[in-house]
Amino acid sequence: MMKRFSLQRVKNLTASRPLASASANSRFSTATESSFNRRTPPRVPNLIGGAFVDSKSTSAIDVINPATQEVVSQVPLTTNEEWDMDKLAKNITTEQGKTLKDANGDVFRGLEVVEHSCGMATLQMGEYVPNVANGIDTYSVREPLGVCAGICPFNFPAMIPLWMFPVAVTCGNTFILKPSEKDPGASIMLAELAMEAGLPRGVLNIVHGTNDIVNAICDDDNIRAISFVGSNAAGMHIYGRASAKGKRVQSNMGAKNHGIVMPDSNKEATLNALLAAGFGAAGQRCMALSTIVFVGDSESWVNDLVERAKGLKVNAGIEPDADLGPVISKEAKERICRLVQSGVDSGAKLLLDGINIVVPGYEKGNFIGPTILSDVTADMECYKEEIFGPVLICMKADSLEDAINIVNRNKYGNGASIFTTSGAVARKFQTEIEAGQVGINVPIPVPLPFFSFTGSKASFAGDLNFYGKAGVNFFTQIKTVTQQWKDLPGGVSLAMPTSQ
Ligand code: NAD
Repeated sequence: MMKRFSLQRVKNLTASRPLASASANSRFSTATESSFNRRTPPRVPNLIGGAFVDSKSTSAIDVINPATQEVVSQVPLTTNEEWDMDKLAKNITTEQGKTLKDANGDVFRGLEVVEHSCGMATLQMGEYVPNVANGIDTYSVREPLGVCAGICPFNFPAMIPLWMFPVAVTCGNTFILKPSEKDPGASIMLAELAMEAGLPRGVLNIVHGTNDIVNAICDDDNIRAISFVGSNAAGMHIYGRASAKGKRVQSNMGAKNHGIVMPDSNKEATLNALLAAGFGAAGQRCMALSTIVFVGDSESWVNDLVERAKGLKVNAGIEPDADLGPVISKEAKERICRLVQSGVDSGAKLLLDGINIVVPGYEKGNFIGPTILSDVTADMECYKEEIFGPVLICMKADSLEDAINIVNRNKYGNGASIFTTSGAVARKFQTEIEAGQVGINVPIPVPLPFFSFTGSKASFAGDLNFYGKAGVNFFTQIKTVTQQWKDLPGGVSLAMPTSQ
């Protein structure tokens, strides 16, 4: 079945579909499809989505026969509009708000899981030991579970569905996807692409809704396993309810990721990394580096961080100059503002205030500019709660040990990073830090999918993480077979069988 479901076909379809639908909207009518042939000199056509089409461009360059100086044909200067094939990314930007560049990353990181799934056969192989006893062989096989389901958050409308269904269906399961009610469009487009790439009809199913449908998924006896990504409140509810019905659950939840800044680190590279990982996607990434722990003298760098953050452009994600788009909803904005205010009320310093920003042309948008709080302590609500917005909170530590203790005392364990030029410091950090995904001079250490996404502590519930070997184990049941092919000895023995 999966032979026909190849990454290349998905990529090709991703690229071709916007123009195919553009054709339906008469951007390339039958008349213009052959117009390149009727011109004198002829115009070289573009080949898009399997069809030769005349470019919409009014500009062209002559192709000249060097022997005669005759104009043989004209080559069009294809316009940016024609090149713009990112229908899926545009849908994400429109529904979710992130910048187009970031939306492309959302799709790309998801396609990596499709690619991984296309080569997954070796991970599904069983084990075989011949002749474990006289005439007896034992082997194990991995079998599909049956019907599996996935429940998704709003922040990666393409990547997170792609963490789930490609792995599940490649392991032989059918899948029911419940996209986030806030941005369901990308899931529909992905399903359409998957079916065009060869996924049999009925293998992937999509249901929309909120709590009631999620509860129905948890309770349904036909569903064997649930992948969940989202907040702790929903994740623990789903983990408890579905586990009580005997289902497998893998639940990726909230985070508070720390970046430890050592004074010996490369200042320029570190500050750039902190800005990108703190404010990218307006801080709405579960691996956003939302908390910075400045160790020793690096504390003074916070002023440079503020200056650089002031240079980031807040705008609608569709605008080419946008660094940060809006946050997902008015409620999310109110929550973020409340947490920032709670920090100020408990003694933190508001070094950069993005709360009251107004973006010209988008006055009704849920925008929050880069916001930086310093002098934050572990007892403050703004530290204990996941903010999930463009807010960097800064803490101080006297030593590496103190910094590691701060991170380890936090309940979450999705990711943690250190910035240093010392191998010894990095090694100590790697060994002692209690987080599932560790970065050394890497701010967002999400691995390629042949490793798994290994959040831990309160950021994960379950035993088997998403994708990689663990993902295959999650979506398969191991069966161990012991076979005997020899004449059975005479007589009956009721003693415990032993392998002899
Ligand atoms: P959310 O928990 O509000 O929603 C996630 C899904 O759960 C949605 O499909 C929603 O319909 C459903 N849901 C929500 N409340 C429910 C309830 N009470 N009962 C049943 N179903 C419910 O999460 P969100 O706001 O969409 O996403 C943001 C959260 O996701 C953040 O906490 C973020 O850290 C987390 N997240 C984690 C990871 C990770 O890999 N650890 C990745 C992305 C996002």
